[in-house]
Amino acid sequence: MRYVSTRGNTPAMTFTDAVITGLAPDGGLLVPDEIPQIADRLGDWQDLSFSELAKALIALFVDDIPQAKLDELIDRAYQGFAEPDVVALRSIAGVEVLELFHGPTLAFKDVALQLLGQLFEYILDIRGQHLNILGATSGDTGSAAIAGVRGLKTVDIFIMYPRGKVSALQELQMTTVLDDNVHCLAVEGSFDDCQRIMKAVFNDAEFKSEYSLGAVNSVNWARVLAQIVYYGYASLKLGREAGVTFCVPTGNFGNVFAGYLAKRMGFPIERLVVATNENDILSVFFETGRYERGAVRYTVTPAMDIQVASNFERFLYYHFGCDAGQLNAFMHAFATTGTAELPQPPGSDVFLATAISQATTLETIRALYEDCGYVADPHTAVGIAAAGRFDIPGPKVCIATAHPAKFPESVNESIGKEVARHPVLDALAGLESRRMEVAADEAAIKAVIRQRVAAISSG
Ligand SMILES: *Cc1c(COP(=O)(O)O)cnc(C)c1O
Repeated sequence: MRYVSTRGNTPAMTFTDAVITGLAPDGGLLVPDEIPQIADRLGDWQDLSFSELAKALIALFVDDIPQAKLDELIDRAYQGFAEPDVVALRSIAGVEVLELFHGPTLAFKDVALQLLGQLFEYILDIRGQHLNILGATSGDTGSAAIAGVRGLKTVDIFIMYPRGKVSALQELQMTTVLDDNVHCLAVEGSFDDCQRIMKAVFNDAEFKSEYSLGAVNSVNWARVLAQIVYYGYASLKLGREAGVTFCVPTGNFGNVFAGYLAKRMGFPIERLVVATNENDILSVFFETGRYERGAVRYTVTPAMDIQVASNFERFLYYHFGCDAGQLNAFMHAFATTGTAELPQPPGSDVFLATAISQATTLETIRALYEDCGYVADPHTAVGIAAAGRFDIPGPKVCIATAHPAKFPESVNESIGKEVARHPVLDALAGLESRRMEVAADEAAIKAVIRQRVAAISSG
């Protein structure tokens, strides 16, 4: 198995190179050069546990890590999850809810980032390399990325966030991690400033190579790969008679794209419902074929307040029949004019899409609690609300992306009492924390990285 860039201008590479590379040098995203077909294994895989399925499935995409080692990395990645089978399926209000939030930071990103941390450690150790990860977060991603790599000797992680503009809880989830290799940078600016600085630092090729900069955002192929597992797992459990339809709250399209690959591999999946919040660029695309950037709207589902979904490029690449030329033309039109269009929308045989308003999201949280006693986080509620809009045969599985206690204000307010709590989050209040305040300035961020690297090399 080799990995190629969606933009067609990067030599094919191995899995471990793809994990370390992140974004391809030609600006594209890395994808496997073929999609393994598993229809004839469904019987053998039907009764596997989550981790067993992960070992069998991920191995199909990896030929440069020995199976015994890969198995060990997968076991280690999932040992910290609170559910015995890593994820949990619950029947609620006529749908199945697939809870993916039982990892260390209570968000679905742990499923992928816990494994990515293990992969980094193994690959860097073998190569004798050290990686400096730089990321920007408006909340959720930062803590999951930190939890994935904390304590590793081969990685330092620098997470920028806008000071005073992430919730107190989200800040504590990052700053109470006291491992030496974790650096929380409270930037005196906005999230846009953090992202701008991050782009500028990565665009400085000399700095990037001198300081071995790496990224953990959802363009990393290993994140998508780890996510395919739970689509396969739930479809095997529930799709014996009729294919399963997944309803996925969507921001960067990374999660639902993993579902698309699971369907292409041959798992019993009927449709994928792309559920967006009021940032509806993707739902408009699937309805009309038109992909048009708008202004970001801030909602109660901040992890989905995204206009340009980075992983969408991977889907377009397959939509264009793996023709990098067509993809380049589309992305170029979008980059230069803010709009790109297909002659026709992709068709509703795989994807269905809808946008859910804030009012509907909050009402869904209230109704789920009132009717079934289930407490859903706002992102999860977007998926559940979307499920109700489509009449499709077969089971519907709604992806639960965060524990409700991560978003207590909107959950408690919708329900009218304090129901959104979790002991892990309650415990944060008394813990020691550590952060560095930094100016919203490229030079200041680079200085922090330089100082840390100098400190490590002087032992
Ligand atoms: C990241 C995130 C999402 C969106 O996932 P994508 O892969 O970006 O589509 C949804 N819900 C929560 C809670 C998240 O943290």
